[in-house]
Amino acid sequence: MTARIIDGKAIAADLRARVAEEVARVKRDHSLTPGLAVVLVGNDPASEVYVRSKHTQTQAAGMASFEHKLPAEVSQADLLALIEELNRDPAVHGILVQLPLPKHLHTETVINAIDPAKDVDGLHPNNAGRLAGGFAALSPCTPLGCIILTKSVHPSLEGMNAIVIGRSNLVGRPLLQLLLNENATVTIAHSRSRDLPRLCAQADLVYAAVGKQEIVRGNWLKPGATVIDVGINRIPTAEGKTRLVGDVAFQEAIEVAGAITPVPGGVGQMTVACLLVNTLRAACVIHRLPAPGV
Ligand code: NAP
Repeated sequence: MTARIIDGKAIAADLRARVAEEVARVKRDHSLTPGLAVVLVGNDPASEVYVRSKHTQTQAAGMASFEHKLPAEVSQADLLALIEELNRDPAVHGILVQLPLPKHLHTETVINAIDPAKDVDGLHPNNAGRLAGGFAALSPCTPLGCIILTKSVHPSLEGMNAIVIGRSNLVGRPLLQLLLNENATVTIAHSRSRDLPRLCAQADLVYAAVGKQEIVRGNWLKPGATVIDVGINRIPTAEGKTRLVGDVAFQEAIEVAGAITPVPGGVGQMTVACLLVNTLRAACVIHRLPAPGV
């Protein structure tokens, strides 16, 4: 058996196109241009790439994009002052502070300073708590993307057994909540979990969000399982470059799984597309408009 490859690139492109249509509609019908502000502190090369791609895709969707680049040594007070300014700015509906922040800045305080209505990364405790309570919330983009990818294979996740490997606030925990909202039965595993292969063997849906190259092996999987690989691991090549590898041993897994996301070309593509969705949704909530059709 060879697994169906879930084409994150195509699914993300389709989602971005639907966001652009909805943005055009709210502009036309309500004179509203959704706006996303991205704050980058310092010049970490990977973060710069992510921020550039967010900027390009936000503009391509017809939204306003505001980039704020601050020096690595910016003080916490100055960063908080900028966030306060963005909270008040009526042209800004989404605020994203690119993580990780330099060590002298307190990430939790910075995230807590963002207006929860504009928290398009879904990391503010108000949004995390609302999501955990089963209430409407801005949810983190990567887990949202994982759900959309899964639904491209299984339109209903009701009653399916899912395992989420990883319990970070960014991926694992919100993914657990989103899966519960879809009526899946969820196991969440982490570094202290015992016998991961046995836990995976029960799962119709496997989500790997660990950050360890190919930790999930093909023979752990239930035949026909759907595998969503969130991991991004940079591996040095013989040519002195790097290549991306996921948390799942892809070549083994395609022999057993029913469907699987590749790395790259899977989950990564969805994260920015879902950021656009969240910005559009936030703009509609702030302006008391009906929820957009994406
Ligand atoms: P993280 O904060 O480092 O969390 C990793 C999680 O994996 C932790 O909960 C940890 O358990 C668990 N873990 C570590 N070793 C394990 C083991 N041997 N067995 C089982 N669980 C283990 O990472 P993250 O931010 O969630 O990111 C996870 C991966 O996804 C990374 O590769 C990251 O680059 C990638 N990522 C991709 C996207 C995307 O857009 N595609 C977005 C975000 C993240 P403990 O809690 O017990 O420490």
